[in-house]
Amino acid sequence: MMKTSFKGNKSFLPSKPCIVCKKEMTWRKSWAKNWESVKYCSDACRRKKPD
Ligand SMILES: [Zn+2]
Repeated sequence: MMKTSFKGNKSFLPSKPCIVCKKEMTWRKSWAKNWESVKYCSDACRRKKPD
């Protein structure tokens, strides 16, 4: 059986690609205050930022 009952509308959350690995990052509550300055999906990507 497929899960068809979603609670809430998660597709409403904003997302953007990590500038290093291009992986889609979905908005997190912990990013609420600095979402606009979030550029990396993880500390690993933050360390190997592009030149
Ligand atoms: Zn990344």
